[in-house]
Amino acid sequence: MSPDARELEFALRDAVDRGQLHAWFQPQVDVATSRIVALEALARWQHPDHGVISPADFIPLAEENGAIEEIGQFMTTESLAAIEAWEIDVSVNVSPVQLEGDAFTTWLERILRRNRSVARRLTLEITEQRRIEHSPAAARRLDLLRATGAGVAIDDFGMGHSSLTQLKRLHGSELKLDRQLVADDSEETTRLLARIVALAHEHGARVVAEGVETVATMARVVRLGCDRAQGYLIGRPLPRNEMARHLARHRAGR
Ligand code: C2E
Ligand code: CA
Ligand code: CA
Repeated sequence: MSPDARELEFALRDAVDRGQLHAWFQPQVDVATSRIVALEALARWQHPDHGVISPADFIPLAEENGAIEEIGQFMTTESLAAIEAWEIDVSVNVSPVQLEGDAFTTWLERILRRNRSVARRLTLEITEQRRIEHSPAAARRLDLLRATGAGVAIDDFGMGHSSLTQLKRLHGSELKLDRQLVADDSEETTRLLARIVALAHEHGARVVAEGVETVATMARVVRLGCDRAQGYLIGRPLPRNEMARHLARHRAGR
């Protein structure tokens, strides 16, 4: 490990305590109405010396050193607060590491049981589904959370080893089509996506297209029958205060 990474790993341990971790929110629109109906919470680390550090860089470190427990709890707390404040659906990313022990599930299940209307608006986004599929204990923990009314999304669908079987096995309520797949307008991929959307709908799952950057891609997403869309074309991730203003303007029709 480079000295830089070691230094970051060390600082990460108390980034939450020092108030350096923030939840940003990216909007998702209902494809049929173009209204913002949901947000994805995305972690940002405001490091005093290095500026904003991307989750792609610090989440893997956090998964290694255990800081993911605190980060995951923080991000989920922020997501629950956003649901209550803005009366909107919110998705939060959950690392398979958070499902390796009981702590996260026990904590969240207790909160969600007390507040079913909030639970129904929360979606847990899972990547690396194989790690959960291959661990009966992790799958059971996910089921406990699902039983409170929370949704489960299969993230980055189409990349790596994701499959529709996982949607079934993990009782997924949502499928998030990976950005690369969404942007690929070859005939082959288009046919495949149309089939995936139809099968997801047969399972009663919602389909969200990720990484929509252009008008042409958005038109494709509409044609494919996706339910929701997310991406820079619709809106970039914003800090909480800015998202509050953005939502207020959007809801006032401005
Ligand atoms: P993800 O869950 O697939 O999140 C979507 C990523 O795509 C975000 O990157 C978002 O900013 C970016 N994105 C959104 N729209 C577009 C677009 O139109 N074009 C392009 N090129 N990118 C777009 P971000 O925020 O850097 O997050 C990277 C990854 O880090 C996430 O990918 C997720 O796997 C992980 N992550 C972020 N926050 C958390 C968290 O709180 N917990 C865990 N466990 N992982 C997180
Ligand atoms: Ca995600
Ligand atoms: Ca994704």
